[in-house]
Amino acid sequence: MDRKQFLASLAILPFVPTAMKLNDLNKLSPSTKSTGNMPVLFIGHGSPMNAIEQNEFTQGWRTMADSIPKPVAILCISAHWETSGTLVTSMAKPKTIHDFGGFPQKLFDVQYPAPGNHELALETQLTITRTSVQLDEKWGLDHGAWSVIMQMYPDASVPVVQLSLDYNQTPRQQYDLAKELAPLRRKGVLIIGSGNIVHNLRAIDWSGRNQGFDWAVEASDKIKKLITGNEHQQLIDYRKLGSAVELAIPTPEHYLPLLYVLALKNNDESVTFFNDKLVMGSLSMTSVSIS
Ligand code: ZN
Repeated sequence: MDRKQFLASLAILPFVPTAMKLNDLNKLSPSTKSTGNMPVLFIGHGSPMNAIEQNEFTQGWRTMADSIPKPVAILCISAHWETSGTLVTSMAKPKTIHDFGGFPQKLFDVQYPAPGNHELALETQLTITRTSVQLDEKWGLDHGAWSVIMQMYPDASVPVVQLSLDYNQTPRQQYDLAKELAPLRRKGVLIIGSGNIVHNLRAIDWSGRNQGFDWAVEASDKIKKLITGNEHQQLIDYRKLGSAVELAIPTPEHYLPLLYVLALKNNDESVTFFNDKLVMGSLSMTSVSIS
């Protein structure tokens, strides 16, 4: 019996302490159990400064948080946690990771003390069968997670768990893996993919430009059209979408969290865009809600 089978056997034995903890996760979500699935969000996170600024984008995140049921816990797939193999954070108190440089001290001083949730980590590990998922005690919350979530839930009352991006897996494999997370939505878990659809830092226009370059607009429009049309296979094969998209997605990590979110869309659900703007030429803040 391997670890996954062992954990699976625990989950079906009601008198085992681990199973009781997993059941606790269910118990915590009576409202969403009766109302169905939690929404799924892709958040364009942009600059880490959004953590401490009040602007139209942070307002958009807050408004979204206020318009959905309060989650039991959050499972965040952030562009800023790439690993070999798939990891899920399982510590009780994830540390706030300041994984950036060149920003004001006040940003480095920020702590976001949201608790972890070991039971959700275990449940995530059990739910994913396509690959083995390792529990992680070392990571914490990177800025892809905390800069957004602290604006959505400033009182840090919602536990947060992160799932890593395995850079050995193809976009197709990650999309398929994400589909397996669907049962968590019925347990009150808010799944957030945090990245940026258009994200070319080398091309950033620092002159205060508050719109996108032509190619960035073209790429953004093309990708949004495919999202609306449920053309997921084309979005998985984004490298075939032409030169504008090539410029918009020079590296995959900020785009892949979008695929995790799209993978969780049911046929009867709709897509809503919010914070749908390009800034600094080559960065889109476009965010997606599925419900
Ligand atoms: Zn980022």
